[in-house]
Amino acid sequence: MKHIFSAFVFLFLLFLPFPGCAFFGDLTTPSLDQPTKTEPSKDKAEAEAPKTVRVAAFGDIMLHSPQIRAGIQADGSYDFRSFFKEVKPYIQSADIAIGNLETTLAGRSKPFSGYPQFNSPDELVHALKDAGVDVVSTANNHAMDTGEKGVIRTYRTVNKSGIQTTGTAPTHEEKKAAILKKNGITIAFLAYTQSTNGLPVPKDKPYLINRINTTQIAQDVKETKKQGTDFVCVSLHFGNEYQRHPNDYQLKIARQVLEDGADVILGSHPHVLQPMEKVTINGKEKFIIYSMGNFISNQQDPYTDEGVILYFDLEKDPAKKQTSLKNVSFLPTYVHKYYQNGKRQYVVIPTETKQPGTLPDYPGLTPAKWRMTWNHTQQLMKEKGTFPTFSLNRD
Ligand SMILES: [Zn+2]
Repeated sequence: MKHIFSAFVFLFLLFLPFPGCAFFGDLTTPSLDQPTKTEPSKDKAEAEAPKTVRVAAFGDIMLHSPQIRAGIQADGSYDFRSFFKEVKPYIQSADIAIGNLETTLAGRSKPFSGYPQFNSPDELVHALKDAGVDVVSTANNHAMDTGEKGVIRTYRTVNKSGIQTTGTAPTHEEKKAAILKKNGITIAFLAYTQSTNGLPVPKDKPYLINRINTTQIAQDVKETKKQGTDFVCVSLHFGNEYQRHPNDYQLKIARQVLEDGADVILGSHPHVLQPMEKVTINGKEKFIIYSMGNFISNQQDPYTDEGVILYFDLEKDPAKKQTSLKNVSFLPTYVHKYYQNGKRQYVVIPTETKQPGTLPDYPGLTPAKWRMTWNHTQQLMKEKGTFPTFSLNRD
């Protein structure tokens, strides 16, 4: 025994100067450290610089029948890019942009249609891709509008366009979070809906549409964290339509999902804005926006043409391996409807300032409407906290 022990002490002393040799497992490979001896300090310096990612999120992307007509071109094809022309630089300024696609893409096997059961031309998604959108949540009350086939075709078409979906899936195997990695930060996007407008989802195919179920959401959040995700955003399609404040259900569910590990709640469905707030859970700052309003639609009721693009930064401290939420801000937007060549047209107008500098050149665009949107949005978004207005010129 004694000579074995001596040999062990000898080996231990021999390798002691090498870093990382505190455990026996390392004793067998100390020489591997040598060729890269200078690298750890360099890596360390690089790793220590905090990394950031900017996320932009917005509400319901709807395509009512007059909007479908607005997109028809002379040759019969569709093009909706003009809807997003003014907001495009704002969407593109973020590293990741997510919206709620509240329609289906069932193709030409069914007529294109708006309310009550939406079937939109694929070109809508091409326009979103062109504007810089990276992810769309597809779990919403219109997801079943064109049946199971519609769910599947929507998933395939959107993902083929280069935009990821979250919240619906054609098969059990494809049911997963949208996961994006930017600047060394991995972010998961999950999405769930309260309702499918009474349209039945086949009982043996629950993977088609994620329904709000806090036990399931907690499990999914845990699963994404296991996969090494730094930050989890959960889109919840919930609440009462046209109500400018969250109901008890929204308050309860949003809080529960954060307590179960999510970091940000992105609410949609009411078609009008609802407030946002920071909440601290177990010492960590988290965030809820109960409804981001409509991003684009043909709805006419008060406030339904208003929305926000919400911005937030994620900052990762590689030393502590912690990612935190920073710089939450919002950009008020509204849908301007105008007539051109005898057709109603649509454009989403971003309002960075209370007073417009130079108004974009669209028929009927007025400073009065601009200011009204600004005032409504500022008031509501600041009800539960102090949040600045986003500006492209500010870093
Ligand atoms: Zn909805």
